[in-house]
Amino acid sequence: MYNKFISGLEGSSSVELMLKAEKMRKEGKEVISLAGGEPDFDTPDRIINKAIQSLNQGETHYAVGQGIFSLRERIAEKLRNENNIMCTPENVIVTPGGKYGIYMAIASLMNVGDEAIVFAPSWVSYCPIIRACGGKPIISHLQYDDNYKIKEENIIPYITEKTKVIVVNYPNNPTGRVLSKEEAELLRDVTEKYNLHIVSDEIYEKIIYDGKKNISLASYSNIADRVVTVNGFSKCAAMTGWRIGYTVASAEITKVMYKLYVHTITGLSPFIQNAAIEVFHCDEEIEKMRTIYEYRRNYFVEELNKVEGIECRKPEGAFYAWVRFKSEKNSKKVCERLLDKYGIIGVDGLSYGEQQYPCVRFSFASDMEILRTVIKKIGEV
Ligand code: GLU
Repeated sequence: MYNKFISGLEGSSSVELMLKAEKMRKEGKEVISLAGGEPDFDTPDRIINKAIQSLNQGETHYAVGQGIFSLRERIAEKLRNENNIMCTPENVIVTPGGKYGIYMAIASLMNVGDEAIVFAPSWVSYCPIIRACGGKPIISHLQYDDNYKIKEENIIPYITEKTKVIVVNYPNNPTGRVLSKEEAELLRDVTEKYNLHIVSDEIYEKIIYDGKKNISLASYSNIADRVVTVNGFSKCAAMTGWRIGYTVASAEITKVMYKLYVHTITGLSPFIQNAAIEVFHCDEEIEKMRTIYEYRRNYFVEELNKVEGIECRKPEGAFYAWVRFKSEKNSKKVCERLLDKYGIIGVDGLSYGEQQYPCVRFSFASDMEILRTVIKKIGEV
């Protein structure tokens, strides 16, 4: 018998579909994949050049510790200035992608049998990560008809004496919702009142539209010590393949997380960390990518809504169109048909826990030409 928490885990729909698209392409089949959430842009030049320079300078040895100090210094400065999170480099751990940061946080906060509240629709990996750590995900289904707003009734009835963590992800993957002040304050009050912790995944923070702003829950001083904020460079700086993210948490939680980190990671490649410092000089490039996503969003969502039987709200952040197929029953079936007949890959809403309506997630981090083709084909469906 292998590890009972891990051996039974479901696969990751987004990753499996990315693999499927790769395989189909290798087989010479035509496929349009809007499955994976990844920028289609290349990493900005100065980041790449810095990595090459670091490699040439022999930065190829272990970089032990929580992450190189100069990078953690820049991250802490950004968190103080932009997110209003009071922290120092000591509170920061540089992780191999945001995903590992989420794992490290959940593993460090939860004991076997503890419960974590996850709002659905939610990214496909939160529940498996909780289960892998011996925890129990308690899914609170937010309502499509409420535009997935978090209300008291979506939290309070789900709290038991075993509840340890609430997982929060805004801008949200897959719905594109941004946390409102009202929702943020509700989460703050509940966290304080019931002595809970929050794991706040803010990886899409920079990809936000219409002048909206992300609210970091760790900016509330009364719960700051109970929040692990996870962020990274994958989405904002088009660095998915580099695998670099970070966590910021209280000194106490960081100490626990580092115990796991040092025995599983040792430290991140120094040339990657050096290159990541350049992200803090790439405001212009990051803003340019964001503007292009906004343009694509406007086009894609507007065109989708012209198709009979389809409803798509304008996402406030991230780069996903969350599309409801009104005359269908099952999102997996919709996805199968889209792939078989039209070679289009999206991710079915059931994978994100949307059970009420058949929804499909399409990434619009794709070229306009591709989006135009998809619109044409979906119109035919
Ligand atoms: N986070 C991205 C997505 O939702 C990348 C794949 C993954 O790790 O799930 O598509």
